[in-house]
Amino acid sequence: MASIEAFKLEVRSWIEEVLPADLRVGNRKDLPKESLGNWIQALAKRGWITPDWPTEYGGGGLDRKHTAALRAEIKAVRAPTVSSFGTSMLGPTLLEFGTEEQKLEFLPPISRHEVKWCQGYSEPGAGSDLASLQTRAVLEGDEYVINGQKIWTTGADKADWIFCLVRTDPKASKHDGISFILFPMHQPGVEVSPLKLIDGSADFSQVFFDGARAKAKDVIGPVNGGWTVAKRLLQHERSTDGGSEGGLSGAQKETLVDIVKREVGLQDGMLADPAIRQRLAAQELEAKALSLTMRRAGEEARAGQTARDIGSLGKYRWANMIKSEQDIAMTALGTQGLGWDGPGFEDTQLERTRAWLTTRADSIWGGTNEVQLNVIAKRVLKIPE
Ligand SMILES: Cc1cc2nc3c(=O)[nH]c(=O)nc-3n(C[C@H](O)[C@H](O)[C@H](O)COP(=O)(O)OP(=O)(O)OC[C@H]3O[C@@H](n4cnc5c(N)ncnc54)[C@H](O)[C@@H]3O)c2cc1C
Repeated sequence: MASIEAFKLEVRSWIEEVLPADLRVGNRKDLPKESLGNWIQALAKRGWITPDWPTEYGGGGLDRKHTAALRAEIKAVRAPTVSSFGTSMLGPTLLEFGTEEQKLEFLPPISRHEVKWCQGYSEPGAGSDLASLQTRAVLEGDEYVINGQKIWTTGADKADWIFCLVRTDPKASKHDGISFILFPMHQPGVEVSPLKLIDGSADFSQVFFDGARAKAKDVIGPVNGGWTVAKRLLQHERSTDGGSEGGLSGAQKETLVDIVKREVGLQDGMLADPAIRQRLAAQELEAKALSLTMRRAGEEARAGQTARDIGSLGKYRWANMIKSEQDIAMTALGTQGLGWDGPGFEDTQLERTRAWLTTRADSIWGGTNEVQLNVIAKRVLKIPE
């Protein structure tokens, strides 16, 4: 493998060659579809949507250092990257728990960004207490027949496949009778009913299963042993920050510093408002400290020196940090900050309002802040209950 410095140069010249010009203009709301498609295809061709996966599963075969260098170069030009339920949650879980056949079937389409996945975990009576889930799967020949309901399923209306927790043994204790299974969403026994949110979007749905079918061979890990697989996937979910909500991230969005500079203005090369300046500085320090801490903690977890659940600490701090970031943006925007429609409100401000509202949900998905604190106490600090 090339030295890191040589690799960075290679990536820079590759980006120069393949990143379409209209993806470089910065701060656009809608990225041009054709250029975006070309860029994603170029990434997929190199295996760089999932750079650290083995090449036989469509990945780039890069080690951690080269992967980090690649991501840093892409981030430096604010080019879009792909982060989805498939790439950041299901893929890494399959790499660990899938059979060779399952990996060869499911990973390459994820690494090419061809199949959209959704996560069927939460149910009306099973959120924080996830192991209480009731959706049933009964074996009939070489298929499972599935009945029940999921809720808050992000992207279910657009998903091709679902990774789903189902109860395969109702007599076993609640953590022991669960299986982790994959099945297609486009079939007669699956009904998706979108839920409208306060920000006007309908990203989540209720999903009803009435005789839906899954192939028995698509259970990941042991039958009735899905709780271990489910927890590992949650660790991956909690270790990836906001990108885990799927789709494109990093795509030329205005940073907090951009917004504050524009709105507050500069005086003698410094932000004109000292109070915001201090909040911004504290925020940037927190972000840097969190990123370095989680990189170190990630290495320690991989080396077995700390619990894999350390990701809960990152998720908890990140959810708080992202809220305060949006609060600073709102303060800088003043009366033009939070609003919906009416004179003076433009699309960009609407986007900002949506972003502010979205951060209210960031302390809920993947387990609420209180649940993360419980996990940190129990599994990282090992405080007896
Ligand atoms: C943006 C977003 C996207 C989501 N996407 C998905 C998805 O794609 N798939 C999916 O399956 N789910 C998804 N969810 C659902 C999410 O996982 C659940 O909302 C979450 O786990 C909390 O469950 P609940 O809503 O049932 O709340 P509850 O579990 O009923 O919790 C209610 C309140 O009680 C507190 N609480 C509960 N138990 C404890 C405890 N033991 N100790 C301390 N406090 C406690 C909680 O912290 C919370 O404040 C999403 C949620 C959001 C907000």
